[in-house]
Amino acid sequence: MSDNSNYKRLVKLASYAAISAALLMLLFKGFAWYVTGSATLLASLSDSVFDMLASLTNLIAIRIALTPADDNHKFGHGKAEAIAGLAQSAFILGSCVLLVLHSVEKLGQTSTSIAFPVWGIYASLFSVLVTGILIIFQSWVVKQTNSLAVKADSLHYRSDLLMNTGVLVLFSLVAFGYQGFDGWFAIAIAIYLVSGAWQILKLSVNALMDHELESHVVEQITQQISQVQGIKGFHDLRTRDAGHTWFVQCHLEIDKTLPLEQAHAITTNAELALKQRYPKIEVILHQDPV
Ligand SMILES: [Zn+2]
Ligand SMILES: [Zn+2]
Repeated sequence: MSDNSNYKRLVKLASYAAISAALLMLLFKGFAWYVTGSATLLASLSDSVFDMLASLTNLIAIRIALTPADDNHKFGHGKAEAIAGLAQSAFILGSCVLLVLHSVEKLGQTSTSIAFPVWGIYASLFSVLVTGILIIFQSWVVKQTNSLAVKADSLHYRSDLLMNTGVLVLFSLVAFGYQGFDGWFAIAIAIYLVSGAWQILKLSVNALMDHELESHVVEQITQQISQVQGIKGFHDLRTRDAGHTWFVQCHLEIDKTLPLEQAHAITTNAELALKQRYPKIEVILHQDPV
């Protein structure tokens, strides 16, 4: 129990750290964008806005998703996260369209000059530093908790490190007198944002559309069921991923001369075998006499 509360405390702490880091970067980048007028900074600023919103909605969605099943939602609330993911990706994709339009406009201008490039350098150096500290902290939390959510978040900030370094490169170029790359760097960042949003969209739609579990998991389940003693065969295996719970249903073929008590025991064995392998599975089995 205390282990569990420690887990929750650390994962929450990691979310708050990510939100604070994103907020700090957002403020600094916002100021630097205002001063320099750079499209690349605007793109990088958008990333910080999305990161902060993502961490905030995740905090809320996870809280809802983890509430136990109730009378109105007897299969649990696992899809809350998928709905949040859908909203997030729609928001990011929409903003990226605007970003690209803005960047293309910059490409068309023959003399795009960035004012006070030194503020761009400060902002990106600051972002690299803050992101670096955040990643170190997240790695520590992952070591303590093995949390998948924090791991995924940390992975994102690792690529953000690259993005912030890219912004630093752009402003160094500008400082040395090489203008005209702003639009291109901004478009590159927009593509980076779209690819991230696409991943979130895919996972969310899969959960909402009751996509089958990954094929290697289904294969494992098939093996697990066929290894249970007394099961002569099975058919109509169906699986679906509902976020925090995986639902598996299937028809077992059991010797028709067996007493109900034994047939029931065989079914329970199959259920236990699956649950042992995948704790987040919920199994619904039907017996066919053969
Ligand atoms: Zn980011
Ligand atoms: Zn059947």
